[in-house]
Amino acid sequence: MTTDPRVANPIRSEIDLDSNGKQTGFLRLPHSVHRSAYGWIPIPIATIRNGDGPVVLIMAGNHGDEYEGQIIVSQLIREIEPERVRGQLILLPMANFPAAQAGLRTSPLDGGNLNRAFPGNPAGTPTEVIADYIEHTLLARADYLIDLHSGGSSLLYQGANMLAIEPRDAEEGARLRALLGAFGLPKAFLHPENPVHAASAARRQGAISILTELGGGGTVQAGLLSEARAGLLHLLGFIGLLHGALVPERVPASTRFMRVSGARHYVYAYDSGLYEPLVGLGEHVAAGQAAARIHFPDTPLREPVTLHFASAGEVVCQRVPAMVQRGDCLFHLAEEAFQ
Ligand SMILES: [Zn+2]
Repeated sequence: MTTDPRVANPIRSEIDLDSNGKQTGFLRLPHSVHRSAYGWIPIPIATIRNGDGPVVLIMAGNHGDEYEGQIIVSQLIREIEPERVRGQLILLPMANFPAAQAGLRTSPLDGGNLNRAFPGNPAGTPTEVIADYIEHTLLARADYLIDLHSGGSSLLYQGANMLAIEPRDAEEGARLRALLGAFGLPKAFLHPENPVHAASAARRQGAISILTELGGGGTVQAGLLSEARAGLLHLLGFIGLLHGALVPERVPASTRFMRVSGARHYVYAYDSGLYEPLVGLGEHVAAGQAAARIHFPDTPLREPVTLHFASAGEVVCQRVPAMVQRGDCLFHLAEEAFQ
């Protein structure tokens, strides 16, 4: 997708990102519809700024059915005072607001998946306009992106995990490992780059990004929230943005660095039916091991289909709903990196 440089992004911010202090308000995305001719979509935003220093964009609700980050970001907006900041925090608790308001992964307005919409389009659909604004207005001024995801409605991750795109060289790798170590969640997954993701948008704009995958399954787990919040506050202290009592003294956990390597680490359904998992989160599996059975109660004499892991690894994510269709992801694995 190419962005037409002659088209300005129509979003107007109610808050001034260049001012010091704490401000909250809305990004106004014009949306003229039958029930509201001159209406706009209210995307909540906050800035907490105190002079020069690192600029960090923390966002949640990139996928609207991932609730953990939305709670954490709202709490940060209430708790962090500008006197404890050096630099700037920009906070988006419900980045794809129409999706988050509906509790859906994708926007009910245009079907858009924000994390597949970068670099966006200022003349496009609401999701594309939001992506363009995040990349070219917010990330353009940021040094770091922290994008808080979880498994959402259909997937469940084991525990609290961090995600980052594979570093391009040793220097970037060392920097990334230091940042992930400071965040300190139990596992960090390294992924190949995908240009439509927010993490790649950050890279294009010269910012370094860390994502999370925190539980999911349409739930919120108290332990994961406090673990992720403590790690995030420790990271903000580590990069010199936050100081004072909110910064935990110690890293909450030591991190295992793992790699997710594309197709061989994923198990997909090829049949529609009811899926029975044969392994659990955290299990180590061998290549060829049975992963799941799909049952066909509508044709009860038909034998269930057994699916197998293509590769060895640790089960870090599994599908939640039992009903599956061809193409649904049932599991994904990760394996130790830097062995
Ligand atoms: Zn997500």
